[in-house]
Amino acid sequence: MNNRMEVTQRIEPVSLGKKEKPEPVSMYFGENTFSESTMRKMFSEKTFKAFKRWQEEGEVITAAQADEIAQAMKEWAMAKGATAYTHWFQPMTGLTAEKHDAFISIGTSGNVIEKFTGSRLIQGEPDASSFPSGGIRATFEARGYTAWDPSSPAFITEVENGKTLCVPTIFISYTGEALDKKLPLLRSEVALSKSVVELLKLFGHGDVKSACSTCGPEQEYFLIDEAYYRLRPDLILTGRTLVGASSPKGQQLEDQYFGSIKERVLNYMLEVEEEAYKLGIPVATRHNEVAPHQYEFAPVFERSNLAADHNQLLMDIMKKVARRHGLVCLLHEKPFAGVNGSGKHLNWSIADDRGNNLLNPGDTPEENLLFLTMLCSVIYAVYTHGDLLRGAVAFAGNEHRLGANEAPPAIISVFLGEHLIKIVDMIESGKMAKAKKQDLVDLGVKLLPKFLRDSTDRNRTSPFAFTGNKFEFRALGSSMNISTAIAVVNTIAADAIQIVGERIVAEKKQADSFSAAVLKALSGVIKEARPILFEGNNYAEEWIKEAEKRGLPNIVSSAEALRAFVTPKAIDLFERQGVFTRIELQARYVIWLEMYEKVIDIEARTLMEMVNTQVLPGAYEYQNDIAGGFEIVSDVAAAGRVDLVSGVIDDRKELLESISADIYYVRRNLREVAKLLEKAEAMEIEKRTFFFFNELKPQMAHVRKHVDALEKVMPDHLWNLPKYREMLFIS
Ligand code: ADP
Ligand code: MG
Repeated sequence: MNNRMEVTQRIEPVSLGKKEKPEPVSMYFGENTFSESTMRKMFSEKTFKAFKRWQEEGEVITAAQADEIAQAMKEWAMAKGATAYTHWFQPMTGLTAEKHDAFISIGTSGNVIEKFTGSRLIQGEPDASSFPSGGIRATFEARGYTAWDPSSPAFITEVENGKTLCVPTIFISYTGEALDKKLPLLRSEVALSKSVVELLKLFGHGDVKSACSTCGPEQEYFLIDEAYYRLRPDLILTGRTLVGASSPKGQQLEDQYFGSIKERVLNYMLEVEEEAYKLGIPVATRHNEVAPHQYEFAPVFERSNLAADHNQLLMDIMKKVARRHGLVCLLHEKPFAGVNGSGKHLNWSIADDRGNNLLNPGDTPEENLLFLTMLCSVIYAVYTHGDLLRGAVAFAGNEHRLGANEAPPAIISVFLGEHLIKIVDMIESGKMAKAKKQDLVDLGVKLLPKFLRDSTDRNRTSPFAFTGNKFEFRALGSSMNISTAIAVVNTIAADAIQIVGERIVAEKKQADSFSAAVLKALSGVIKEARPILFEGNNYAEEWIKEAEKRGLPNIVSSAEALRAFVTPKAIDLFERQGVFTRIELQARYVIWLEMYEKVIDIEARTLMEMVNTQVLPGAYEYQNDIAGGFEIVSDVAAAGRVDLVSGVIDDRKELLESISADIYYVRRNLREVAKLLEKAEAMEIEKRTFFFFNELKPQMAHVRKHVDALEKVMPDHLWNLPKYREMLFIS
C-alpha cells in the first residue's frame, strides 16, 4: 500500500469532544471587540464624544485623549488575558499583516510594567521593506507607517497559549501614499458620501449629513481532509491542484447543492461561527455549494469598511479552525479543474445616515424617483467604467473562472430583472417623463416595491445583478480581499451620481416639475448606458457575439484587464474622486502584475518538480511492467507455446505505445515549460505577464493533459497523489 492508500484507509472525522450546551449567541456576540458600549463605559464622557466626532466627522482627537483611550483599551484587553498588541493591516499582498509588541515597558527602577500609550495606539512603524509597494517606497527608505483606523473596532485574537489585542490600521508610506487596501476603501467612502449627500439635497433631503456603502460578501470555499492535503505539494504551494484527473462523479447529479450538511462539516461550521461571533462578525447563513465538498458562509451586511475587515478575519478563522478539525479550507478560486470554482459575491448597496437603503424601492412615487435615480446612476457607472470592475477582480486565481469555462463571464454587464427592465424601458422612451404625478402610479412606479421585493426569478449568470434592494457583483474570487472591489464600485458610483445629479439640475431649468426633470435626465442616462443592460444567459455563446457587437470588452487575461487602472480615463476618475493618486495607481498596476507572474512562476516550478518526482517514477515502473509483459507474451507466442486470440499482441503493443507516448509528451512539454521560464527571465514585467498567459499557461495545460491521462490508467499502488474522487468525496 502506498501513502495515499494508507491515508484513505485512516480518514475519519477528528473528534474534538462534545461541547457543553452552547450559550445563546447574543450572550457572547462581539465579546472580543472593543465595542462602542465598552468605550462608553470606560472613557470619560468628553473623550467618548471626541472619539465619536473623530469617527463621524474626521476631527482628530488630542494626544491626551489618545492616551486615555489607549489606557482603557489596554485595561480591557489585559482583563481578557491579552499580553501584547499589534497594529493589524491589509498590505498589498492581499492578506493581513501584524507585528506584535508586548505591553511591557521597563519602569524607572528597572521593574517591568504594562504600558500602552496613545502614540503607540495611533501610529506604528513596522519595518516595511518587504511589503509590496510597486516602487513607491524605495527599499533604502523602508519606512512605512500604520495609523489607527477608528472606524473599525479593536479586537482580541486568541490561541491556546495567549491573546493579542489587534488595532485595525491603515498602512501608508512616509510620503502619505496608500500602501494598503484599506485606505483607498475609506477614501472611496468619503467620495460616495459626498456625492450622495449632494444628490439627496436636490431631492429635498438636506438633513442627510452622510452616507456609506454597505456590503455583505458571500464566501465560498472547499474543505478537504488534511491528510490528503499533505500529500499534494501543489495544494500546499499554490492552493490548487496542478494535475488531477476528473472524478467519474463530479457535480453532474447536483446532489451537493443545498444538500444536507455532513456532520463533520457542520461541526466545523459551528465552530467557525462561534469564533466569528466572538469577534462580532455576523455570519448568518451556511450551506453546501454546487461542487462536491464546496460550501458557503454569508454574513448579515454591514458598513463596507467593517465588512471588509470582517471578511479578512473570517477567512483567517475559516483556515485556522479547519486545521483543528483535521480539515483544510481551500480559498483558491479553482482548486479543482472540472467542477465549479469558488467566488465571492459582493452584495453592495448605499445607506444614508438615517438608515435608509437608497437602493430600496420606496412606498411613494417620490421615494421611487430617488430609487430610480440611484439605480440609473449605478447602471451608468458600470457602463462608463466596466473595465475597472473587470480590473478589480483580475488576478491569477480568478483567471480560471472569469471567461474560462465557468461563471461569471469576463464581460461585464448589468442585470435588472423582468419588472425593473420594463420600468427602465419606459423611462428611456420618455413615456414617464411626460406623465403627471398620478400617471406615475399607473405606470407602475408606485407599485415598484411590490414586484421588486418578490422578484424571485434571479439571473445567476450575470456578473452585476440587481437583486431586489442591492446589487450583487459576482465576479470576485473567493480568496480576494474585497476592499479594492468595493473601492472601485464606490468610486464609479460616486462619480456617476454626481454626473446624473448635474444632469437633473440642467433639466430642471426647462422642465415643468422636478420629477419631469429627473425622468428626462434618467432617460438620457439609460439611452447612453443601454448596451450594458443584458437580461439573458451570460454563459451562452450568443452573448459573447452580442457583447462584441455592443462594444463591450471581453478580457480574459488578467494582465490586460489590469491596464484599466492606468488609462488616462481611470487616473482622471480616481484623482477627481480622491481615491487613488496617479502614483498609487501606477504602483498598484506594477504590484498586481508582479503578483500575477510570481504566482504563475511558482505554479510552473511546482508542476515540474511534482511531475518529475511524483508522477514519472511510477509511470516508468508501469511502462517497464507493460514492456516486460509484452515481451513475454510475444516470446511465448513466437515460440508457439501458446495459442493467442488474434489481436492480443497488438493490444499489448498499443498499451505500451500509449503509455510511452504519454510519458514522452509529459517530458517533452516539461522541457518546454523549463525553456519558457528561462526565456521569461530577461523580459520586463509587462511583457512577461503576457508571455506567461499566452505561452506558459497553455504549455502547463499540455503537461497536465498527459499526466491526467496517465492517472486514469496507472495502477493504484503506483499513484501516490490523492485523486479527485478521494479528496472530493471521502471525509
Ligand atoms: P441571496 O439570495 O443572493 O443569497 P440574500 O438576501 O440572502 O440574497 O443576501 C445575500 C447577502 O446580501 C447577505 O450577505 C446579505 O447580508 C447581503 N445584503 C442584503 N441586503 C444588503 C444591503 N442593503 N447591502 C449590502 N448587502 C446586503
Ligand atoms: Mg448568492
